[in-house]
Amino acid sequence: MKCSSDGKFTGGELKHFGPIELSPSSGVLNYGQGLFEGLKAYRKEDGSILLFRPEENALRLRMGAERMCMPAPTVQQFVDAVKLTVLANRRWVPPTGKGSLYIRPLLMGSGAVLGLAPAPEYTFLIFVSPVGTYFKEGLAPINLIVEHDFHRATRGGTGGVKTIGNYASVLKAQKIAKEKGYSDVLYLDSVEKKYLEEVSSCNIFIVKGNVISTPALKGTILPGITRKSIIDVARGHGFEVREQLISVEELLEADEVFCTGTAVVVSPVGSITYRGKRVAYGNCGVGVVSKQLYSIITSLQMGLVEDTMGWTVRLD
Ligand code: PMP
Repeated sequence: MKCSSDGKFTGGELKHFGPIELSPSSGVLNYGQGLFEGLKAYRKEDGSILLFRPEENALRLRMGAERMCMPAPTVQQFVDAVKLTVLANRRWVPPTGKGSLYIRPLLMGSGAVLGLAPAPEYTFLIFVSPVGTYFKEGLAPINLIVEHDFHRATRGGTGGVKTIGNYASVLKAQKIAKEKGYSDVLYLDSVEKKYLEEVSSCNIFIVKGNVISTPALKGTILPGITRKSIIDVARGHGFEVREQLISVEELLEADEVFCTGTAVVVSPVGSITYRGKRVAYGNCGVGVVSKQLYSIITSLQMGLVEDTMGWTVRLD
């Protein structure tokens, strides 16, 4: 789908996956004027396909587009395009329990621009790929390292939107962490360097007794759709959930830690390494709360239980 100066997206067609043509002076290539989304389609046992809260992705894309000075498709256009793309690729949606179809919508400044300014033309496209679990460990615990030299986002920056540049800034820290054998990196705030922000591509939660806490949204972390869903599910199951500042000390003293995201769903954290010290949780096992929330959310996403939240969209 394309959009020029009137700010309205029109057209749209299904094409085989392959290279796209882009001006060397496009806004996305030169100034990082690009946003993406990520969501999944699951196959139900009866063969039908379920999307999980696609309108939330559309709304987040629109919010990000405002920050990045870009026009965006309407919620309806976004959801319709996702449905069309998934249905055209329905044979690639794995059977229940064997993975999902990952859907990647991209919005970019595709028009040519030389001086620093928003691009004169925009392209919205979607591609898909079947995926298994994100971390090779699956539901087994992951091991994180707390990063204090590199930051993912700063106050007033673009950390709260899903713009491509945010991911460029984590590549190096993530590469170093993986080379040392960690699953991923946990970032701290860039001012006091003591409060948790998020992991490279997921949100973080800590559990202490019956209280589940996650960093509050202050513009530097991504408002994850899984994060929002887990907060609602946990409250509905009797947990007290707090969105607040969480210090590294509180993290190290937690009973349980887990990450949430479309790709990782709910991933229990087995250990955290901070300034050379490693803290293991629950004997590196899968925490009971993480396991409970994982099971509730995946049963909903795969259509194994009745969707009393109205979060899934069925495609036949
Ligand atoms: N934080 C970051 C930086 C991410 O890239 C993602 C993945 N989109 C998340 C959190 C989790 O968001 P969601 O639950 O919407 O996938």
